[in-house]
Amino acid sequence: MEPFNPTDLWNRCLNEAKKNLESTEFDAWLRNSSFEDINGSRIVIRFRNSFVAGHVKSRFGRMLEDIIRDISGRNELALQFIGDPAKPGPSSTDKLPSNISSPSSDSIFLRSNYTFDHFVVGPNNQLAHAGALAVSSEVGSTTYNPLFIYGGVGLGKTHLIQAIAHQLRQEGSKRTFRYLSTELLVETFIKCVLQNDYTRFRKLFQGIDYLLMDDIQFLKGKVETQEAFFHRFNELHQHGKQIVLTSDRPPHELQDLPERLISRFQWGLVADIKPPEYETRLAILQLLVRDEELEIDHEVLDFIASSIRKNVRQLSGVIHRLAAMSRLTGCGIDMNLAQKEIRSSLGTITRRLSPGNITSIVAEYFDVSPSQLKGKQRKKNILIPRQVSMSLIRELTSLPLKDIGLFFSGRDHSTVLNSIDRIEQLREKEPELDRKIKEIKRRLVSI
Ligand code: ADP
Ligand code: MG
Repeated sequence: MEPFNPTDLWNRCLNEAKKNLESTEFDAWLRNSSFEDINGSRIVIRFRNSFVAGHVKSRFGRMLEDIIRDISGRNELALQFIGDPAKPGPSSTDKLPSNISSPSSDSIFLRSNYTFDHFVVGPNNQLAHAGALAVSSEVGSTTYNPLFIYGGVGLGKTHLIQAIAHQLRQEGSKRTFRYLSTELLVETFIKCVLQNDYTRFRKLFQGIDYLLMDDIQFLKGKVETQEAFFHRFNELHQHGKQIVLTSDRPPHELQDLPERLISRFQWGLVADIKPPEYETRLAILQLLVRDEELEIDHEVLDFIASSIRKNVRQLSGVIHRLAAMSRLTGCGIDMNLAQKEIRSSLGTITRRLSPGNITSIVAEYFDVSPSQLKGKQRKKNILIPRQVSMSLIRELTSLPLKDIGLFFSGRDHSTVLNSIDRIEQLREKEPELDRKIKEIKRRLVSI
């Protein structure tokens, strides 16, 4: 194959990416990036900090890799995104994107397949789906304002709330929206407080017809953000703007939140999403199979649908892994392969991995104590295991970066992100460390 110039390749990739994105998104996230290094078949790209690198990875990683592979004709190429080391202290909040106040930048948080078309409706999610559809066709209906969707992990809350956003974008309608994860809202609020810039916080909510807030349960314990949010909520509501919220539990179980906020959440329509029944699980599987352009026998799908019951994310995980395996080996997906995959995924899923037990296993492996890992010492023999611990916790549990930081003596989330980046980079350079981490992982999954 022809040799290629990586700097040139990245610039061409950026030009392509630009066509798919709005210019504000492109400017905010991708413009200031540059080719850094080549590491095997990985192209390392540097961003201005690890917050940006992390966001680019999760929001655009796949798209950028597709482009890179397309234009280079090399399917084996992968991208790695790195950022400068975070500065210690509160300045870490500076890493928030500066143009967060422009509503159009919201689309970067949307996943392209989280649309209504790709959402299977069943008795478990009918009401939430109907509510979501209704609000995307009519602004400010009092019956559905706010629309509060709640349900367990991996049941489609984010999918539905993003489907509303897609709908609003797609129609070329003039209706503006802001899609925000509550974690980002809290971070932005803190930043505005630090900079004494409440106007900026208020601007987040100005000029929008829809406020879409995902994972409102993360307002827990954030008293000042709650207060500020309460006022914005009232203002939007009074002006007939549509509010949609998602949460992992119903309003009355958001115990830590003030009563007046909880009662507002109940003003409109409260709709839950339950785990899907067998028929819905099967229909979701069929949709995934169609998307991946796979061929899987009905009896295999039936087996998967009967084995995985509680979580749609697990269903899609199984299909994606089966698809990858089948592409790698060139073999079809049969009962045998499916059974193996289900056994191993159920095995890892049901095991309860907590920050505590991950840290103790890592500590034991490196012959240090868990409290040293959680503590402040920066000697190398402690620092690396600590970073390994953080990175494994991130990988094996769904704990937010913030909480991982708290677990490690209240470090902030950017320190955690940075540690994870660093371990990723070290693993590339040091096969020995990579081997150790794999070994620890094997121990963890066999707890
Ligand atoms: P939550 O936000 O509730 O934790 P997500 O919205 O992230 O869950 O959904 C997890 C995964 O399951 C996503 O890939 C999503 O597309 C998929 N999913 C969930 N419910 C459905 C559904 N009814 N139809 C199709 N896909 C679904
Ligand atoms: Mg979600």
